[in-house]
Amino acid sequence: MKAIVKVEPKKGFSLVEVNEPTISFSHDVKIKVLKASICGTDVHIYKWDNWAKNRIKSLPQIDGHEFVGKVIEVGEEVKNVKPGDLVVGDSHIPCGHCYHCRNGNMHVCQSLKILGVDTNGVFSEYIVLPDVVLLKIDESIPLEYASVMEPLGNAIFTTTVADLRGSLVLITGAGPIGLMALAVSKISGASFVVVSEISEYRSKMAKDVGADLVINPVNNSVVDKIMELTDGLGADVFLEMSGNESALNDGILSLKNTGVASILGVYPEDRINFEMNAAVFKNLTIHTITGRKMFETWYLSASWLKYKKLDLSKIVTHQFDFNNFEEAFELMASGQSGKIVLNVAAD
Ligand code: NAD
Ligand code: ZN
Repeated sequence: MKAIVKVEPKKGFSLVEVNEPTISFSHDVKIKVLKASICGTDVHIYKWDNWAKNRIKSLPQIDGHEFVGKVIEVGEEVKNVKPGDLVVGDSHIPCGHCYHCRNGNMHVCQSLKILGVDTNGVFSEYIVLPDVVLLKIDESIPLEYASVMEPLGNAIFTTTVADLRGSLVLITGAGPIGLMALAVSKISGASFVVVSEISEYRSKMAKDVGADLVINPVNNSVVDKIMELTDGLGADVFLEMSGNESALNDGILSLKNTGVASILGVYPEDRINFEMNAAVFKNLTIHTITGRKMFETWYLSASWLKYKKLDLSKIVTHQFDFNNFEEAFELMASGQSGKIVLNVAAD
């Protein structure tokens, strides 16, 4: 089968012929991949930056972790999906029996493996995954939206830890996940959503997706603008979606006393400056987010997409043939896109 593989420790991927994976355990499921989308993590691996050099343990490895596909074969103990089902899956592969797995927190399993990072990924014609990560979805969900349900889950998990009804929300960073969080905020009852973003392209996207106000923090003070909008009270909820230290601190300083911060961003350095005293004296609630809740977040996104409550049409901006993956990765790396989907196979 064809697969997008990191063959050597340098920039780029190669589209090569590899052996089809086979079912080896009773809980394995073999899936024909229909569409797969590109995440920032894939761009790190494509560029082979320091994060990728330190994180990826063995090559060659198939990249990718966001997909939708059709089940073609199941191991003898698989109960949740059957051949012919349309499925999506979490990239967090849990062990299923550790302390966290048994406490409803599979996304932070003690022995967690990340698809396409610790294992072969989904940028290939067929994949074999354990049944525990899979969710059968409704056939009416457009495949390009189904293929981005994994990052959509990040956005939903980050956004829904706060009660957004009637709230003024600040989102820092309008990358694909920030834009999804914007759309989720709008349908979750937020009254006014402010987005701060440094890129002109992404600022325009935020407006198109429905931001009430977009601020460029390079030439405007986010904190001043939020205080002006709220008569000096501050924002109710802050969603950090940029991975930028100054955006994070802008958000903390923009919150009202007792406000809620929810942080998805991952920072280039492990130790950063943080407005800790402001957070303490404002009596903030700070949530940090990793992955998605398995499977509360997934059921929520499946429902919103099935009943067409959530519109991703302005967030999924491009689709490329699998063979043209290089063009797709270069575009994703340029920042001049929303979510990019690779068409791997016809249904
Ligand atoms: P992205 O890099 O595509 O988007 C980040 C956006 O933030 C960009 O549009 C960029 O222009 C903008 N930005 C940069 N500096 C800014 C600043 N000072 N103020 C305002 N905006 C600024 O990332 P993404 O794929 O949308 O993901 C969002 C963040 O979430 C990233 O940091 C990513 O690493 C992280 N992430 C975390 C998890 C998790 O499980 N915790 C999962 C996926 C992604
Ligand atoms: Zn576990």
